[in-house]
Amino acid sequence: MRQHDDRAHAPTGLRTSPTGRVPQWVLDESVGRTSPAEAWRAWTPAQPPVRRTRKRRTWTGIGGALVVVAIVASAAVAVELLPGLEATATDRTAPTAGIEAAGGPLGTPLAPPPDGGTHQFAQLQDDGVTPIAYDPCRPVHYVVRPDNEPVGGDLLITDAVAQISAITGLQFVDDGATDEPPSDQRVPFQPERYGDRWAPVLVTWDTVAEQPDLAAEVAGLAGSLAVSSGEGPGVYVTGLVELDAAQFTEILSRPGGQAVARAIVLHEFAHLVGLDHVDDPTQLMYPTTSAVLDFAAGDLTGLSRLGAGGCVPAV
Ligand SMILES: [Zn+2]
Repeated sequence: MRQHDDRAHAPTGLRTSPTGRVPQWVLDESVGRTSPAEAWRAWTPAQPPVRRTRKRRTWTGIGGALVVVAIVASAAVAVELLPGLEATATDRTAPTAGIEAAGGPLGTPLAPPPDGGTHQFAQLQDDGVTPIAYDPCRPVHYVVRPDNEPVGGDLLITDAVAQISAITGLQFVDDGATDEPPSDQRVPFQPERYGDRWAPVLVTWDTVAEQPDLAAEVAGLAGSLAVSSGEGPGVYVTGLVELDAAQFTEILSRPGGQAVARAIVLHEFAHLVGLDHVDDPTQLMYPTTSAVLDFAAGDLTGLSRLGAGGCVPAV
């Protein structure tokens, strides 16, 4: 990807497009609120709550006919149209459109609880109502970098994927292990590594040295990249789930820690497919660990909607 060779010229140190613009999108800011004590006493009164959160995320490598859909605040959506790049067979910024796209959804979301519940979406379409989601008409591929993986970590991931798939109807495909490291400027199209398709979702067990945002109380980070084709709807094409290897090792060593670790991974994978935090401690999408160890009504309602996105073969 020759276009990234000019990053030394970026004033912020971020990689840029060839014209120097920073193709940046923001999922949300870290949530700084602290958890009420009653929210976590059920599982570990001796431990402070663990923040499950997301971070400002930068992606590079989108250009040409595609648009990075950026979220500026928790509700407002802005679309940044990048300068046109000449898409050629040897220097493209996106894969051939519609890779693996079927004529209809591959699965069916679970019916949401009848009374709904509190949920928020990470990004909305231009109508301000419809959430941006993964394309249900093609599989969501993922790879895992197994370095630093705690004992049982692989099962936490496969369990979370199975749960998210069962609720959303999205079909995930495990593409196995990768040696791709986590990066704050991950390139979403890496044909040399992954071929002519969007890079799969990357799941990593990070050290704090390689991901300083996994500070003392932050156990995981996750989010996805939305793009759109011209005036078309935004659709997630790839994403990241970064889990703090040392914290998970410690959590798994506690009495009851398995359920807490599972809950954190579920929370992060819900971010991956498009759920945002809610200020409601009865939901798993509350930003910090609590007595809630599985998806609650609001979470399920949001996930069901995220499985009912439109097919977007144009990307
Ligand atoms: Zn979170």
